[in-house]
Amino acid sequence: MPTVDDITIIGGGPVGLFGLYHSHLRQLRARLIDSLPELGGQVVALYPEKYIFDVGGFPKVTGRELIELLAEQSIKQNASVCLGEKVVGLERDGEVWRLQTSGGEHLTRSVVIAAGLGAFNPRKLGVPGEEEFAGRGVQYFVRQVSAFYGKRVLIVGGGDSAVDWANTLIPHASIRVVHNLPKWQAHEESVEQMRASGIPIGQPWELREIRGADRVEAAVIGPCGSDQQETIAVDEILICIGFSTDLGPIKGWGLPIRGGQIQVDWGMKTPLEGVFAAGDVVTYPGKTKLIALGFGEVGMAVDSAVHYLFPEQRITTKHSSDRGF
Ligand SMILES: Cc1cc2nc3c(=O)[nH]c(=O)nc-3n(C[C@H](O)[C@H](O)[C@H](O)COP(=O)(O)OP(=O)(O)OC[C@H]3O[C@@H](n4cnc5c(N)ncnc54)[C@H](O)[C@@H]3O)c2cc1C
Repeated sequence: MPTVDDITIIGGGPVGLFGLYHSHLRQLRARLIDSLPELGGQVVALYPEKYIFDVGGFPKVTGRELIELLAEQSIKQNASVCLGEKVVGLERDGEVWRLQTSGGEHLTRSVVIAAGLGAFNPRKLGVPGEEEFAGRGVQYFVRQVSAFYGKRVLIVGGGDSAVDWANTLIPHASIRVVHNLPKWQAHEESVEQMRASGIPIGQPWELREIRGADRVEAAVIGPCGSDQQETIAVDEILICIGFSTDLGPIKGWGLPIRGGQIQVDWGMKTPLEGVFAAGDVVTYPGKTKLIALGFGEVGMAVDSAVHYLFPEQRITTKHSSDRGF
């Protein structure tokens, strides 16, 4: 007989992870699935080294630290966590839901969708050499800041991500920035801080070509709208020009979706029986996309799932201090 879980959480971002904690608190047999190879969702993929200041109890915490602590809190012994597995289908089969994934199938009695913005893909420049050297010197995310230490790094972009990474790396690496627009999209103070460091900044300049052998060795850059160009030696090119997101297969599951988000009621319920949602993926009047709010929502979603699974139990949160974990 295949295993049937009580609850399956789609998404291993901060909200999905905290949902796993709540599932254990409510003594459910739980599984968490994420398409990325690593836990943490946006926080780890997009800003692991940035400080977060608005999570209760943490005056400041980096994205990576927060996710490590959440994993410690949420992943109990023998927890079922499936990484690198994308959920592509959701089908009702009698009392259970069948979840088709890129790795197979899981059966579950209830589902919490905590899929955030959906699968997210970095925007590309489309310049020669970009595809060829992707992952071999061309990066779109900073997974580990120390990997850039002591290197010659070209940062492409003018938004918060590009400028914040420039400021973070300036003390540790040789940084050069090119941005192809006359205006910066980043915060003014961050741009001022970057300028004050005296690093070479090309604006409006563009990256035209990436060259190398086994990995990146040089970049061809020049002022926009001019034939002038120079070839600079680089070890890493960090392209921070945004990302696109897509709910992908979730859009085909018959859920009410508005503006790319699933509409839920006060109990984080969707119109599909036994399917709940929380975090950035949901919308309701007054919704804001914040980690702290997502934590509350996913507690509510799990409590609603408990009430659905065991109707004799009221929708009420158990105190963790009573249970001791
Ligand atoms: C630069 C930046 C700075 C931010 N700073 C702050 C801040 O200071 N404070 C704050 O509160 N918030 C901040 N946020 C917002 C915060 O990161 C989000 O609100 C939070 O990450 C939402 O968590 P989530 O778990 O709902 O979604 P996500 O973090 O997006 O995680 C969703 C997960 O679901 C997975 N997934 C999606 N579709 C599937 C599928 N079909 N199958 C399997 N897995 C799937 C994804 O791979 C992803 O890992 C910031 C966001 C950004 C971009």
